[in-house]
Amino acid sequence: MAFSLYVHIPWCRAKCPYCDFNSHAAAAWPEDEYVAALIAEMRARSANPAFFGQQIATIFFGGGTPSLFAPRSIAAILDAAADRFGLIADAEITLEANPGTVDLPKLFGYRTAGVNRISFGAQSFNPDTLRFLGRIHGPEETRDAVRAARRAGFARLNLDLIFAVPGQSRADVMADLDAACALEPEHISAYNLTFEEGTAFFTEMRRGRIRPLPSDDQAAMYASVREELPRRGYAMYEISNYARVNEESRHNLTYWRAESYLGIGAGAHSFARDSASPGGRRWWNERMPARYIAAVQKTGLAESGGETIDARVAAGEFVFLNLRLRKGFARREFDERFGQPLDDLFGQQIERLTGDGLLEEHHGRIRLTERGLEMADSVFAEFI
Ligand code: SF4
Repeated sequence: MAFSLYVHIPWCRAKCPYCDFNSHAAAAWPEDEYVAALIAEMRARSANPAFFGQQIATIFFGGGTPSLFAPRSIAAILDAAADRFGLIADAEITLEANPGTVDLPKLFGYRTAGVNRISFGAQSFNPDTLRFLGRIHGPEETRDAVRAARRAGFARLNLDLIFAVPGQSRADVMADLDAACALEPEHISAYNLTFEEGTAFFTEMRRGRIRPLPSDDQAAMYASVREELPRRGYAMYEISNYARVNEESRHNLTYWRAESYLGIGAGAHSFARDSASPGGRRWWNERMPARYIAAVQKTGLAESGGETIDARVAAGEFVFLNLRLRKGFARREFDERFGQPLDDLFGQQIERLTGDGLLEEHHGRIRLTERGLEMADSVFAEFI
């Protein structure tokens, strides 16, 4: 068995008004101290029975803006991961980058450090949309960043897009898909903009200053994205993710398949399946970077909460996470993992949702229908 490692870098140049990630706007950050804390936490976690003696299959630097960190910092973290756990031969190592924070030497440095996949937060290629979203880059910087990444030797690229932005039309969304596909990334993530509590957009919405697009328009945009990207060679393999053949994000598949992952850094979450508890255990770290660093300096860990997961809860999570995947999951996988037939726990829900046209079953695999994709959250709620 191999596991996935998530590394959280919590700083950004500016806070985007829609963002509810654990990210903090900063002009400077304690990079060396933070890297030392990440390495110390990794060392302490390597004794955890769920990860001990296992190699790493994927690493994902997420944030925040990992591309604020110098290549030597990323190299130090990767060296420590290889030293502590070891990496499988073809480990996928992804780094999220903001197009406004990279140039050729930096990208070359990441590639030399061992990163082999870059995920750019493009979001849109329309300057007005980018301004509305509070992004620090324009469309040309995204194009330049993609070209530089190719020159630096990256064969695997992802572009993140956001649609259903207030003021956007379906034609605008199609223009963004055109612009993204013209750059020939291997992978595209296209997210429907949401207004999460605690974000600046949420406050603006509450005050009536911005209004989300009508839900029918949002659904129509999502349907267009689902139709258009596969036509251009990007198969939809998850609710918001599209990839060329064999270019799926292996790291994110770990989450959707409810497999173990170790998260290190401020606010990072972890999940470990282990023999001690049938449902596994999850825990999370101190969110504030200064508190995270202080805690690790003191004890080697920065856990601020955790829970043992009841087997019934874990079974529900397995179902709704796997339903995010376009191919869903096989009844057999569920039975093997939880030691009892799916219908014993969720027979009624599955029958009702299938009757409502939201789930479908072929050859023992259960997945969302086209209509189910548009109402995914209410389907998932049935398994919580
Ligand atoms: S750059 Fe990304 S992580 Fe940072 S504030 Fe914007 S959306 Fe959030």
